[in-house]
Amino acid sequence: MRSCTICGHGLSDVRALRTTCEACQSRITQQLALIEGEWPHLADALEPARGHSGPRVSGTPAWTLPAEQVLNLIGPGGIHSRLYVRYADLAVARGLQPTAMPSGPDARLAVAIRGIRRHLPWAVQAINLRELADEARQCAADLKVALGTAEKEVTVPCPGPDADAPCLGRLRFDRDRNRAYCRTCRIDLDPGEWLEHALKIGYLTA
Ligand SMILES: [Zn+2]
Ligand SMILES: [Zn+2]
Repeated sequence: MRSCTICGHGLSDVRALRTTCEACQSRITQQLALIEGEWPHLADALEPARGHSGPRVSGTPAWTLPAEQVLNLIGPGGIHSRLYVRYADLAVARGLQPTAMPSGPDARLAVAIRGIRRHLPWAVQAINLRELADEARQCAADLKVALGTAEKEVTVPCPGPDADAPCLGRLRFDRDRNRAYCRTCRIDLDPGEWLEHALKIGYLTA
């Protein structure tokens, strides 16, 4: 049985001839949509002076970012370029000439996202998409942080696999996977079990 090149899960019969599972494919699609939707707001986040005197436009963070983070987003190696490189890789892997890289960041990002979307249905049947998946996730995460929309990661003391084997690790709730996981004992809770534990230790109140 072949397994997904991104998450390593076995591929079902319908996807046996592919390289990527459906969940990983749709995660990439969602992250591209998020990046496309959030990108236009980045200019506001990077210019904190704007909107300070007047009423704040909703969704416009009023704080500055460290220069290094700004570069990471819109500098020469920013999100637009990181995704353009992934797009060009897909085109080349398919034996096509990539669309020339536009010099403006907005246009470059648009070409990158459009191109990845166009080649994705082919790519999930043909090549290892690990790097693309990592890049899309990282770009989406960087944007979320910059825009102040990153949700704080929730961690609580881990209950351990059973009452006789207490664990010193932290249980982390992952909103993307909708599971709570502990790296120490590798316990993996579904949302119901997580809720029950969080109530029991008083982290959440009913
Ligand atoms: Zn997968
Ligand atoms: Zn644990």
